[in-house]
Amino acid sequence: MQERLQELQTEALEKIAAASDLKELNDIRVAYLGKKGPITEVLRGMGKLSAEERPKMGALVNVVRETITAKIEEKQALLEEEAVTAQLAAETIDITLPARPINRGNLHPLTRIIEEIEDVFIGMGYAVAEGPEVESDYYNFEALNLPKSHPARDMQDSFYISDESVLMRTHTSPVQARTMEKQKGQGPVKIICPGKVYRRDNDDATHSHQFMQIEGLVVDENISMSDLKGTLEVFLKKVFGQEREIRLRPSFFPFTEPSVEVDISCKICQGHGCNVCKHTGWIEVLGGGMVHPNVLEMSGFDSKKYSGFAFGIGVERIAMLKYGVDDIRHFYTNDVRFLKQFNRFEV
Ligand SMILES: [Zn+2]
Repeated sequence: MQERLQELQTEALEKIAAASDLKELNDIRVAYLGKKGPITEVLRGMGKLSAEERPKMGALVNVVRETITAKIEEKQALLEEEAVTAQLAAETIDITLPARPINRGNLHPLTRIIEEIEDVFIGMGYAVAEGPEVESDYYNFEALNLPKSHPARDMQDSFYISDESVLMRTHTSPVQARTMEKQKGQGPVKIICPGKVYRRDNDDATHSHQFMQIEGLVVDENISMSDLKGTLEVFLKKVFGQEREIRLRPSFFPFTEPSVEVDISCKICQGHGCNVCKHTGWIEVLGGGMVHPNVLEMSGFDSKKYSGFAFGIGVERIAMLKYGVDDIRHFYTNDVRFLKQFNRFEV
């Protein structure tokens, strides 16, 4: 019996030493120390022993049990530690992995152009004025010398809100009329008005039913065409480069007399002619002229005392020329691949 116990102990200790995980170890515990295990069986056989042998054998069984239990506990601690170490190793954070990029927003290209143009004019003493986008027929047309029969008043060109007296403004010029009216005939007026305008155009590469304009207006005594030319020359050279030349061509607008279209020399071919300038060496950038006496009078200014000039800048056109964008729709479809490119432009 004693030998049998020694054998069981040796066998159990070998198995414990060989156990590779906690489940295996638990199986060993159940097999050797459980109620149906060999040691329990030995205990049951003790009834056959003499009264002398019994305590000795009882003590021996206890020693064997304690030895096996102690070894199991020792091994269990070891296996648990190994499991924790393995888990930690598996969960190690790889600090060499590149971080997820954080996308930085940037100003929309049209906002950049507007801010750049505003800065140029604020530097020349202009104030920035704003007005409503839903406008009355009076301020959008009438006060700007646009008679009822003028083609620009055609229903085809404007978005009307209710009837023919309320519409989405077709240009930023109504802000001129509103500002002059507030001045009650007293000069000087020196403003630029940036904002959205709306026309019933079919959208294509160069047309959009909604676009941005910046209107400029100066009214004072002794304002002449040369003031307009000088102002636009400073503005266009600041935006497109000092080496650009400008030229004025006669044109017609109902609210200015005389009216001009303004061109800048082509940067791409240096005036020699290329596809961008349609082989003329010049690119049209804006329109302007001397404020029509009727417009001054309608807004309460004495046209014999005061004169003025006005101009209208198409913001998209300036942005397209400056950044080399070939389709106006890019500004409004908001494709981030397009918008992201303007990160690198310092304005
Ligand atoms: Zn050219």
